[in-house]
Amino acid sequence: MQQDVFAQAVSTLKGVGPKVAEKLQRLDIHTVQDVLFHLPLRYQDRTRITPLGALQPGIEAVVDVEVKVTDVVFRRRRTLLCKVGDATGSLTLRFFHFSKAQQSNLTTGVRLRCFGEVRRGPSGLEMVHPEYQQLTEDLTPEASLTAIYPTTEGVHQLTLRNLTDQALALLRAGRALQDWLPPDLMAEPAMLSLSDALLTVHRPSPDDDIQALLAGVHPAHQRLCFEELLAHRLALLTLRAQTQEQKAPAMSVKGTLLNQLLEALPFALTGAQTRVIDEILTDVRQDKPMLRLVQGDVGAGKTLVAAAAATRAIEAGYQVAIMAPTEILAEQHLLNFSNWFEPLGVSVGWLSGKLTARQKRSSIEAVAMGQSQLVVGTHALFQDDVQFANLGLVVIDEQHRFGVHQRLALRNKGASGDSVPHQLIMTATPIPRTLAMTAYADLDCSVIDELPPGRKPVTTVAVSYARRAEVIDRVRAAITEGRQVYWVCTLIEESEVMQCQAAEDTYQVLIDALPEYRIGLVHGRMKSSDKEDVMARFKASELDLLVATTVIEVGVDVPNASLMIIENAERLGLSQLHQLRGRVGRGSAQSSCVLVYQPPLSKNARERIATMRDTNDGFVIAEKDLSIRGAGELLGTRQTGLAEFRIADLARDKGMLDAVASAAQQMMHAQGTSVAPLVRRWIGDRNQQYGGV
Ligand code: ADP
Ligand code: MG
Repeated sequence: MQQDVFAQAVSTLKGVGPKVAEKLQRLDIHTVQDVLFHLPLRYQDRTRITPLGALQPGIEAVVDVEVKVTDVVFRRRRTLLCKVGDATGSLTLRFFHFSKAQQSNLTTGVRLRCFGEVRRGPSGLEMVHPEYQQLTEDLTPEASLTAIYPTTEGVHQLTLRNLTDQALALLRAGRALQDWLPPDLMAEPAMLSLSDALLTVHRPSPDDDIQALLAGVHPAHQRLCFEELLAHRLALLTLRAQTQEQKAPAMSVKGTLLNQLLEALPFALTGAQTRVIDEILTDVRQDKPMLRLVQGDVGAGKTLVAAAAATRAIEAGYQVAIMAPTEILAEQHLLNFSNWFEPLGVSVGWLSGKLTARQKRSSIEAVAMGQSQLVVGTHALFQDDVQFANLGLVVIDEQHRFGVHQRLALRNKGASGDSVPHQLIMTATPIPRTLAMTAYADLDCSVIDELPPGRKPVTTVAVSYARRAEVIDRVRAAITEGRQVYWVCTLIEESEVMQCQAAEDTYQVLIDALPEYRIGLVHGRMKSSDKEDVMARFKASELDLLVATTVIEVGVDVPNASLMIIENAERLGLSQLHQLRGRVGRGSAQSSCVLVYQPPLSKNARERIATMRDTNDGFVIAEKDLSIRGAGELLGTRQTGLAEFRIADLARDKGMLDAVASAAQQMMHAQGTSVAPLVRRWIGDRNQQYGGV
């Protein structure tokens, strides 16, 4: 049998010494196979010469030009400016780093071929540091698209190109690359062979459909996207299968505590809450760990569902941990759970990062001794020194803020012997079904698809910054009616410091404009006790207007607040806007939200604002968000690591997800040996995020 060349270390390729190999590791490239699966991020189109007259800012283009005049100018830094032209227009080439030779070669009359990104400069269009060469008769444009690879510092495109050439040469020479897809799948007419797909995606040929390649919908792309999505799904299903083999405490109890909780409530459960609670109770009766995601729009009443689940564990003699992503939200849960549970004789503990060392020690001790039956907290709950006496249920609120790997860490936290706690995950970010299938294939899902009765949809309007005075009038009117108001200052691109500064400034402006009212301020750089104090006063109606940064985004619940102003709304993503807006419309009053924006609006911003005006439905908004932003941003790529696909794009490729799901099911069912290698091929080291299957 021939040795598998693709399994060999990347250092067997020419040009890969120890230094390069080390850098390649940062790109997750260890073997020759990894080179093949390091797929282009995008393509450059160097196949056509663009006349200067047709250039647009923002595009990359090849141009053939003649040098008019070259000058060195001294502005803030020494700059070489080379004015060039063709029959249709002119362009400036700008260089900040240049040699004497370069300067003297770019003399008047010299003809060049340049490639670069066009941008608007101080005097017309320009290219900064374009690639260029002398134009000669025999210089033909590239025959096909140029692949651009994801890279890291110190690894050039040319290096990656060179390595791919070597790996592709092996494929072309007929060295076998094992295809792990089931043969009957391959019988589908559209399925290219793996080798052909890789060859095309890395080195498109002149005959390939350029538009399809640029858009990522070429059959070669689709073949690889399918396989990548399949690998991710298999990773999650493997994780799920492993979970199913674990044990968890079976909680069969009478349900006395739940009944007591419900009887004490001033309202009845909604139908959706009842249904989801039933689903949860069915899960925790089993001796297998529950892993359930509860999705419910903002204000749907998820907290109560968590409380209902908690009663079950507590009655069965187990501890419950409730974890929230922010201090403010954790504090609010502490308040709610204390109000609900302490009258029932259940002791509620508290663990947050800001406790004094002494308080922390005693909290930790109460948890370890089992004195705290229910513990509310932030990440602090899951630090090493926190040990539970007998943790039976973990509730994680607002899951989208935690990554998959954190979810796994928590699961292991309460493990004792071969038993792990049940896990309930709650998210207010409605995840489009398509995305949920991919991101949460290892979870069961419940949806609270009904709001408590009497809620009126929030009316949303958008006004430009120039009309801020009218907005202030609106605030005055709302307060006069006895309502409370949020004024949210956002500056997402700048630092947190600047965001807080902006809030301070607005706070001053509003104090001057509305001297007769009680105005508070919260932002991320205040001391927690001060923050807490302001929030408590707002909650107690001791403040009429709360100026805040996006720290209030998640979970804050003040039903009497019926007006929200969001500044710089054009800079926020849809899900964040929806989260923020969810802070109003929680009481019976008609609520409204004013999106204040700075014109001009980009196309996307206009679309986002229109969506907010048109609907209050979180699921509609989430689908829209997915199509505008793409999955990576939606899930918070940095946090989850999950959506970092090499080639797939959930928004673009969602049409294939059903087929992916059934192929994955089939492969899991067959219990074949192809699952692990397929996962390893696509996810490699990053697979730790899936529990390292
Ligand atoms: P979210 O799903 O956003 O976490 P919360 O759990 O904070 O929502 O609930 C929002 C508000 O609705 C709270 O004030 C809560 O007390 C109230 N609530 C929850 N369930 C019901 C219900 N069935 N009927 C009326 N109000 C409810
Ligand atoms: Mg909540």
